[in-house]
Amino acid sequence: MSSKVAESNKRIVIVGGGTSGWMTAALMSQVMRSSGQSITVIEPPGPRGIGVGEASVISMVQLLKKLGADEVEMMQRCEATYKLGIRFCDWYEKGHDNWHPFGVCGARIDGRDLFPFWLADSKRFGTPEPYEAYSLQWAASNAGKAPHAFHCPSPIAQTQSYAFHFNAEALAGWLRDIALRNGVKEIVGAVQDAEFADSGDVTAVTLFAGERVEGDFFVDCSGFQSVLMHKALGDPFESWNSQLLCDRAVAFKISAEGSVPPYTKSHALSAGWAWHIPLASHLGLGYVYSSQFISDEAAWEELRQHAKLNPGAGQEPRFLKMRVGRQQSFWKQNVVAIGLSAGFLEPLESSGIHLSQVGIELLLKNFPSGRNVDSLRDYYNQRMALIYDEVRDFVQMHYRLSRRTDSAFWIAAREAEISGDLKRRLNLYDEVGMLDNLQAEAFTETSYFHLLTGNKRLPRRAPALAASADPHMVHSILASIKAQNDQALSDLPPHEELLGRIHRIHLARAS
Ligand SMILES: Cc1cc2nc3c(=O)[nH]c(=O)nc-3n(C[C@H](O)[C@H](O)[C@H](O)COP(=O)(O)OP(=O)(O)OC[C@H]3O[C@@H](n4cnc5c(N)ncnc54)[C@H](O)[C@@H]3O)c2cc1C
Repeated sequence: MSSKVAESNKRIVIVGGGTSGWMTAALMSQVMRSSGQSITVIEPPGPRGIGVGEASVISMVQLLKKLGADEVEMMQRCEATYKLGIRFCDWYEKGHDNWHPFGVCGARIDGRDLFPFWLADSKRFGTPEPYEAYSLQWAASNAGKAPHAFHCPSPIAQTQSYAFHFNAEALAGWLRDIALRNGVKEIVGAVQDAEFADSGDVTAVTLFAGERVEGDFFVDCSGFQSVLMHKALGDPFESWNSQLLCDRAVAFKISAEGSVPPYTKSHALSAGWAWHIPLASHLGLGYVYSSQFISDEAAWEELRQHAKLNPGAGQEPRFLKMRVGRQQSFWKQNVVAIGLSAGFLEPLESSGIHLSQVGIELLLKNFPSGRNVDSLRDYYNQRMALIYDEVRDFVQMHYRLSRRTDSAFWIAAREAEISGDLKRRLNLYDEVGMLDNLQAEAFTETSYFHLLTGNKRLPRRAPALAASADPHMVHSILASIKAQNDQALSDLPPHEELLGRIHRIHLARAS
């Protein structure tokens, strides 16, 4: 960014020092290094951020690259392990697993996803292999393999289609160190109020301790408090409670024992679902549930039983209330909201930190160079709304596709209203197996195909192009993908072997 750019936005103030606040500071300071802007983060004393958010999607590999950061160093600092996808247990019905492995499934044929060809093949030959069986990440997850060997290339590393599990507070701390190294200033304190110009722009924030911090441009990263966007500017919050019923979570950690799978597990329970996130030194467990259908005490008890904890084991649960929905605006006046202050949906697809990253990157690409930014602001708001709404729809689809009838929650979650976009998307898919108009920053069509086929929802026919492709050629391409995956798999080290090398500790071999 040149020094002329953003000259009227020289003083940037970030409110909140969780993952979003420090990620904003780290990325901004990296991009704006020589632009003469000052970046200040205001964070209250005490724990750094909400302390949950322990799994990422693949965009985190890109984040490391943009920060010029070393993967191994981040992993050591954040107790990180690798993640190749998500395994959903009992979602469709009890005893059934479905998967969301990352990356391209097998290979793209003529620039298209494998799905229509797999579908045409399975309709013609009754192929017994599920769609996901062509994914290298799925095969590696099942085999307990890492995405690559130590500092070595692999098909998964080359396509950057893997992610991480990490200690959330440590991640915020690691990002903070990068930001501080880049010259970001830190003020310890909590914002109490804001001051405004006649234009409605925020000119300063005042802290509870009395300090006043002036700025030209503000980024609200204050989490569910949304102190600037919602409280100071009064931007309305759109609740998604009628679409996504889960509004609470209870979380705890236990020491790591046994295997360290390279995937997140999401296990459907009576009024929501439980996450299993394996870190290098412990296992993060939590139950995301709906307070309409289960009390906090009963949810904790169900999670304890699910995790097979002894009644006297003394684990301290952490209960969290979740503000599910989004602000009407992501950018209002001279304030942009990033992270939980902008919106939140349940962490079923680990989308929270990704959405923060998308918000920051879009802001940096379009950082305002002056005060008259109405069109830019409109563009940003429209884009971010589309992305958030599409991620919400994708998460809601998991419930929509479930066949469970064993609890009132599952029936209500499946029957909850869905957006017009999701309705149209499902109709088109049902008819011809196509997905239209997906936002690149949300989930790819491959992710949808995994979810839909994994829940046994197949279209009535394959798209014409795939249906008319030479059936024997398609059949042999599918066979060669499997063979290539087998070869690639044999070159990948066990996940625990690589983690042992990174963390210099012995980890149990995945069974
Ligand atoms: C149960 C649960 C599980 C989740 N799991 C995942 C996951 O697996 N993957 C994922 O990507 N995301 C997950 N998320 C979302 C993830 O936690 C967030 O996206 C991520 O932590 C970023 O949060 P944040 O920085 O926006 O907010 P926070 O972490 O809440 O940080 C807000 C910061 O603002 C500060 N603050 C508050 N008020 C003020 C004030 N008045 N003045 C100054 N500072 C203030 C706070 O002290 C804090 O430091 C999960 C969320 C929940 C609730």
